Amino acid sequence: MVAVLTRRRRVILRQIVRPPYIYRWAGLLTIVGLFAGVTALVLVDRAPATNLAAGPVVELPVATAPAVLPLSPERPTISPTLLTTTGGAGKAVALTFDDGPDPASTPRILDLLAEHGMRATFCMVGRQAQAHPDLVRRVVAEGHRLCNHTITHDPGIGVRSPDVMNRQLRASRDLLRDVSSGADVDYFRAPEGRWSPALIRMSATDGMRALGWDVDPLDWTLPGTAAIVQRVEQRVKPGSVVLLHDGGGPRAQTVAAVEQLLPWLTARGYSAVLPR
Ligand SMILES: [Zn+2]
Repeated sequence: MVAVLTRRRRVILRQIVRPPYIYRWAGLLTIVGLFAGVTALVLVDRAPATNLAAGPVVELPVATAPAVLPLSPERPTISPTLLTTTGGAGKAVALTFDDGPDPASTPRILDLLAEHGMRATFCMVGRQAQAHPDLVRRVVAEGHRLCNHTITHDPGIGVRSPDVMNRQLRASRDLLRDVSSGADVDYFRAPEGRWSPALIRMSATDGMRALGWDVDPLDWTLPGTAAIVQRVEQRVKPGSVVLLHDGGGPRAQTVAAVEQLLPWLTARGYSAVLPR
């Protein structure tokens, strides 16, 4: 019995050390298969990065670009939607001034805002900012926010080619940054409010909220100070974004209207906030 067990053990031991050919081949094929599988997984995992690095840079057409594009980590992702009202606690209202800066009216509006402790957003035209850099710096220094309103106030920008649109947006944003020694340009507003989906998307991609409005007293048509004041007072509500103009023509009526509107808003519990 002992001899038989010993013999069986010897046979088993021999088969482990020197297995029959069929098992040797099976083992070898298993090892080769595993190695090939792992290699394939590693190559597939690396393939996209390798192709991007080696191939030409392909820019996505605007129409197929992702809806929300991540920006650098320190800046929040911008939603590609048109902002026509603002958030904020209580009776918040966002005051916005377009087409400046203008040496006649912008300083007076800044004085009034300072007097009432209110902040506003200035949608500046690039060529105006270039002509009056001191006013851009004053706007920033007094706590107001810059908004990109293109270089030339081209109302057709929304239907230009993606390339032209992109150059306009970035050139005017960079100009405002340069003139203000690096201030953030958080918003973009289309001239005359002529938006297109592509323009809103590109604005978000470039890190600027597309800034619309919900209260427009048409101050640029020069309807008279009383009309401007009345239209704002009748239409403003908590969360409104009010469109006014500090440039683009004679703005004495707007300045006079702002002089009446700021105390009126304060008396009714409104606080002026930046659009969000
Ligand atoms: Zn404008």
